[in-house]
Amino acid sequence: MNPHWKQQLTGLTDKSKQSIDNWWLQNKDKYADLLAKTGVVPGMLSVLCLSAALQLTNQWQVVVDGDVLGVVKDPKAVVSCVQELDDANCAAYESASLLNDVKIARSYGTPAMQTAEMQLCLADTLQWGIQGAVIAINDRDVVALKDVSCAQAVVANLKQKTTEQLARLYKKFNVISLDIKEDLQVIEKPVAIASLVDEQTAEALLTATKRPQQRSIASRGTSRPAATQAAATPAAIEPLVHVEAKVEVSETKTVPYETEYVNDSSLYKGEKKTVTKGQNGTDEITSEVTLVNGQVVDSQVKSTTRIQEPVTAVIKQGTKVAVVTGSGRFVWPTQGYVSSGYGPRWGSFHRAVDIAASYGTAIVAADSGVVTFSGTKGNYGRLIEIDHGNGYVTRYAHCSQLLVSKGTRVSRGQLIAKVGQTGYAKGNHLHFEVLYHGVNKNPLSYLR
Ligand SMILES: [Zn+2]
Repeated sequence: MNPHWKQQLTGLTDKSKQSIDNWWLQNKDKYADLLAKTGVVPGMLSVLCLSAALQLTNQWQVVVDGDVLGVVKDPKAVVSCVQELDDANCAAYESASLLNDVKIARSYGTPAMQTAEMQLCLADTLQWGIQGAVIAINDRDVVALKDVSCAQAVVANLKQKTTEQLARLYKKFNVISLDIKEDLQVIEKPVAIASLVDEQTAEALLTATKRPQQRSIASRGTSRPAATQAAATPAAIEPLVHVEAKVEVSETKTVPYETEYVNDSSLYKGEKKTVTKGQNGTDEITSEVTLVNGQVVDSQVKSTTRIQEPVTAVIKQGTKVAVVTGSGRFVWPTQGYVSSGYGPRWGSFHRAVDIAASYGTAIVAADSGVVTFSGTKGNYGRLIEIDHGNGYVTRYAHCSQLLVSKGTRVSRGQLIAKVGQTGYAKGNHLHFEVLYHGVNKNPLSYLR
């Protein structure tokens, strides 16, 4: 940065009102080095000779920080362009000042660029600065902000964010320590306006774990945009700042109750009775948790305190073996339609209900009981008979297949046989009888 830029630029502007040639001649000593660069050795030429030589051309080179930015025909346009840029920057930041050293000198031979092109080059190259502040990490400037208080606010907010995150994560906690691991400093210094970021952006840059859009603090060079865009692909990076919080966290944890079973011969097998209701207990667990940038990285249990003991549930379980007894409620023994009901038929009496179903359809026990017959019996064909132990007996005739044998305990709905037409039967159907104390009843009265 050139601290005298303003006088220099002002001088340039004033002189531009006069003949640029005259201005040049008065300042030639200052630009002796530039002339040397362009091939003219000042010491070898008299002022007049130099002047004469300068008359040979009508081109001017714009030199920024010692490098030739380009060559133009109209040097006044350059001066007014710099002035316009300066006005714009000063309007945005009162104390804005040009950081570059800008000079205009005669040029020989190099083709000139258009004034508009030169204006773009100037706008892209020249940088204005303000007395701002940077946040430096381990002596390296990382972000630039417009003033010290903004930079300090960013640093303070890094810790504040962690405190807020802790409050979100834990109901009960004590902060043991809260530190920024890096050597973080706010330094007041001149910074380029183009490199300024707002507080939010600064914070994001400091804690980013994915590579953000790069914004160089140094200079906004002319050939940088391509490189900047390539960096937009996020890649995992180590954040610049590590805000480490160590906290003591107290959390309650449910201790599930246990269940104890006690055999009881007064209860039937499968029957259960709760003697004592179980109750969960509670432990208070105190841990030391380490968080970095709001993420838990370590957690150590320090102590566990039983706040409430769990109450063991006590359940009696029956051991008494039940005598199989039907419920008195019957389910349809097979899937089909009633092809012949209970009652007089062809001068006789049909003591059953016939349920037509296709060959092999499942037949199930209408109620729980014990199989008292499983085999072939006259007109019944293949027959199953079940005693339900409560006065009821059911019969399943004309079966194609018998699946349970005599003495088997069966449950209501259990598969016992398959539909067929064995014995005296026309077509596949189940002949189903219900007897109560040995007397046939209309099965349809029970199948509801
Ligand atoms: Zn029948």
